Order: sequence, then C-alpha cells, then structure tokens
Amino acid sequence: MCELLVGLGEVSVLGVVESAEGCPLVVHVESRRDQGRCPSCGARGQLKDRSAVELVDLPSFGRPARLVWHKQRWRCPNVSCPQGSWTVLDDAIAPMRARMTDRAARWATTQVGRSGRPVAEVARELDCDWHTVMDAVSAYGDALLAADGARTAGVEALGLDETLFVRRGERHKKHWATSIVDVGGKSHEAKLVEVIEGRTAKAASAWIDAQPKTWRAEIRWGTLDMSGPYRKAFNDSLSHATQVADPFHVVKHANSKIDECRRRVQNDTLGHRGRKDDPLYRCRRLLTKAHERLDDEGEAKLTGLLEAGDPKGEVRMCWHAKETVRSLYDITDPALAAAYLDELVGDMADDDMPEEVRALAGTLSRWRHQILAWHTAFVTNGPTESMNNLIKRIKRIGFGFRRFSHYRIRVLLYAGKPNWELLATVTPR
Ligand SMILES: [Zn+2]
Repeated sequence: MCELLVGLGEVSVLGVVESAEGCPLVVHVESRRDQGRCPSCGARGQLKDRSAVELVDLPSFGRPARLVWHKQRWRCPNVSCPQGSWTVLDDAIAPMRARMTDRAARWATTQVGRSGRPVAEVARELDCDWHTVMDAVSAYGDALLAADGARTAGVEALGLDETLFVRRGERHKKHWATSIVDVGGKSHEAKLVEVIEGRTAKAASAWIDAQPKTWRAEIRWGTLDMSGPYRKAFNDSLSHATQVADPFHVVKHANSKIDECRRRVQNDTLGHRGRKDDPLYRCRRLLTKAHERLDDEGEAKLTGLLEAGDPKGEVRMCWHAKETVRSLYDITDPALAAAYLDELVGDMADDDMPEEVRALAGTLSRWRHQILAWHTAFVTNGPTESMNNLIKRIKRIGFGFRRFSHYRIRVLLYAGKPNWELLATVTPR
C-alpha cells in the first residue's frame, strides 16, 4: 500500500520517517530494477557497498517530502569482464547526479517555465534551495526546447528587437539582449524564438548564420526597429529577405524629434532646461500623444501651451510632421504610400523647416525602402513588443538576473510557447 502511495513503480519502500514538525517527510526506497546482474556479461554481481542519495520530491499530503534512494554498488566477479563495478540507474526516480526526483523536476519546470512562477516561491513550496529548482528547470527546459523542433519551424517573418537584460554594478551599467521573434502571420501566432546576449549586428548575425540553411531560406520578411545594427544583421545574414521598418518605431522616431526640438526651443527662449511650470515642459506628453486621442480640452491646452512657449512655431511644425508620418499608415495602397512618403520627405527637407524636421526627413529617406515595404508585407514588430511584455514579466519576477543562461531559459519557456505535452517525453542530458 505504501508503494502505491509513493507511486514510483519499480521501487520498494524501506520506511517512512517523520522527524520534527515542519520538517519534510522522508521516504526511504530502493529500486527493484537493481537485481545485481552485470550489464556486460550477465554474471551475478557481488555487493560492493551501499550509498544513499537524498532527493527533493513533490510535496506529499500537503507537506514537503524527501525521497532517500538507497543505491547498491555492485562488482562483477568475472575477472575478464571489462565492466568492473556499477550502480543501478533508474531515470524514473531521478537522473544521475540530480538533487530532485524526476517527477518533482518536471513539475518545477512547468511551474517556473509555463506559469511563470518565481523560482524562490517554488523552492519554498518544495522546501529546498533556489539552485536546486533552477538547475532542474534548466536541465528539463533545455531538453524540452531541444525536442520541440516544430516550435521554430516555418518562420516567414523574423523580428529583431533589443531588450534590457539587466543593470549591473555600482553605476547600473545596462546589459542588453536581442529578442529574436517569429512575428507570426496568417498561419500561426507570434513567439519568441531565441534571446541572445548583446545588441550588435555581429551577435545577431552569428546566431542567424548558425541556423540551418533551409530555415533561413524560408524567411521572407525581416522586421526591425530603426536601428543600424539590426539592419546590418539582415543585410549580412538574410540578404534575400525584404526588410520592413516597424511602424511603431517609425512614429517613435518622429516623436523623439519633437522632444529634441522642444528642448532646444525651451533653451533658446528661456535659457534653462524644462521646469514644471514651463509651457513646453507642460505639454510634452500631449505632443507625443496621437492626435485623435486628444479630447477637446487636451487640444485646447496643447494649442495654448504652444502659443505661450513656441514663438516661432517650430515645435508645432515637428508635431505636425509626426502626425503626417502617422497618416502614412492609413494608406493601404503601396504606390499611393510611396508617392505620399516622397512628397512628405520633400516638404520636410525644406530650408524653412526646423532642423529636427529636416533630420527626420533624412532618416525617412534613408529608410524609404524599409518603411514602404510595410505596405506590401503588413508585418510589424508589434508581436515583438508583446513578447517583450512577457519578458518583462519574467524580469520582474526574477529580479536582478545574474546569469544570462537562467534568464534565457526562463523567458524562452514562458514566451517561446513550447509544446508542453512533450515535457513528459524528454530526458535531460
Ligand atoms: Zn561482467
């Protein structure tokens, strides 16, 4: 009956020990697979010694539990046999050198990876240390990702986007990572394919180049923010794919020009950086908000503040340029969009325009091809952004990640959407 309750199949229960209250329940077992037959020659082994390993197991009847596995070590009596000595292996209990039972490790992997629970919380539930849980999640999680080949198959549109990995050291130096995202399409939903350290063209290219040739050949679109390094990565490593500048980032760039202009005009007119009562400072949020999202009150406030703080109408001109850029995405016809963009760039490059608007014209012109590709591809980095939200959730939970490998496995299990049904079938290395 006891063996039935322990539920591990081929084991004999030697005893169940309850120590002090609040301590884990300890179950002593040995494997019935351990018949002492030499795996090489089949001779009956001689018992050499016994050792016991204590494993963290699933909570039992509402309390943390330990499984103590008594292993026998055997020696082959046959002097000509190369086997020497052996210990029975039983992966159904736990893989070699594991500190947790197989079933507890799979459970912990699901809790941390699929449900996004904090490692510390799962460790508390099992009454074990943080590393025991994290090591199990890494081992089983890696095996799951390796087994799930379908997860990253058939990517048509690949997105690259930077994410902050961690701030480290006294100066809170930023360490960056690159999210590589299947931005999805008609046939399937978006998912995180991989995260790599750094945000350089070299790092992204190295990863792309390491993928199978057939996989790379299927990628038709590359979606990117307005950063040079990722454009270079696509140029170098996926030259056949059409690059698409993400609309969100195009508008974000236009907004950053408003901010620059606002700061410059602020300084020109008042001679100091924005303070809370300065009109331009007060309208900073209204300026970057989409026009249609301003109500009458917001619109009147914006107009009034600009009249007070923007004597030459330069900030207003930047705001207008941003709104005009946004309208580009109301056009669905590629030829009309091209004509619209060219006219826009021509107007914005005029000598009368504030320098920030002219700079924006330059950027739009350099990214013309990528910006207009959106009107054919209709793929965006939007899913990449939503992946980043999932990543941020894990980052909040795993506050202050120290090791990139821990970060990687946790965000991939959570935002990478592996097929969790496969977890029961995988064996960690
Ligand atoms: Zn033997």
